[in-house]
Amino acid sequence: MVTEEQKGYYVGIDLGGTNIAAGVTDGSHKVLFEHCVPTDLPRPAHELAQAIYDMVKDMLADHKMGFGNIKSVGIGIPGTVNRETGMVEYANNFGFDHVPFVSMIKELFPCPVFADNDAKAAAWGEYIAGAGQGSSSMVMMTLGTGVGGGIILGGRLLAGYNLAAGEFGHMVIKEDGKPCNCGRKGCLEAYASASALVETAREAAKRQSDSLLNHLCGEDLDRINGRMVFQAAEAQDPAAAAVMEEFLTHLAVGVANVINMLQPEVLCIGGGLSGAKDKLLEPLRKKVEPMVYSRTSKRNARIVAAALGNGAGIIGAAGLWQMGEGL
Ligand SMILES: [Zn+2]
Repeated sequence: MVTEEQKGYYVGIDLGGTNIAAGVTDGSHKVLFEHCVPTDLPRPAHELAQAIYDMVKDMLADHKMGFGNIKSVGIGIPGTVNRETGMVEYANNFGFDHVPFVSMIKELFPCPVFADNDAKAAAWGEYIAGAGQGSSSMVMMTLGTGVGGGIILGGRLLAGYNLAAGEFGHMVIKEDGKPCNCGRKGCLEAYASASALVETAREAAKRQSDSLLNHLCGEDLDRINGRMVFQAAEAQDPAAAAVMEEFLTHLAVGVANVINMLQPEVLCIGGGLSGAKDKLLEPLRKKVEPMVYSRTSKRNARIVAAALGNGAGIIGAAGLWQMGEGL
């Protein structure tokens, strides 16, 4: 049900290293229209803020709207975003080190502006309008280059004292295991990120040149992607099946650890691989189940795939106003 407070339109901006995507949602989180422009990095912060304002203004004008129709603007930024100070404390792709980027954006827009980290904003989107809709608590684990995500407990997104809560990728699942970019060894993302899956598949294809993987990528191992690994594993290719089994086993340890620590109602798996839906989730659920501490309970976390795809970023950013100040 849409309450009186939720009537009106909201702008959500998903700022990426390659593109800036923005859209307008209504009170029920439906994206009415969206636009996309290149981010054009490297770029000074104030110029980027201006470009974001200009693209939103143009997008609204194209649809015969103006800021008078907009209740708030939300933006997801790939970096450490301090909601209190308006500071982006760190954003690797943008070269930001303590840049008051959110404050710059706030000065341009004539309506309230809310900002958060992009992965957290996407998790918020899944919570308010996707896989976690209607639940009391949801954890999203996004499998991409790394393993990121967001933790929502009691309707609030956990920021953490240093704003880095939800970095699931750097949970060690194997002591003295594979080296991770963070400097530790055996981190979840060295085994269970989308990049780790593809990397392991490449190594397997190199070792076993008669694998279906080699055929699917046209003998160009750089072209192997997650979809090919699923396809070859499904076709019972031994090399791909072994890679998939190892990947799922490691992912299951990470997922079970998160469930045991936080006991969310919904555990949502996001990122491109989640498009494989039950091919990923069914075997994952089977592996996780015996590792969950309260497995005899009837109230165990539901493991589901993200429902909004790339739209989660815009929808979550547009809905950041609903979060208040967060934890
Ligand atoms: Zn790590």
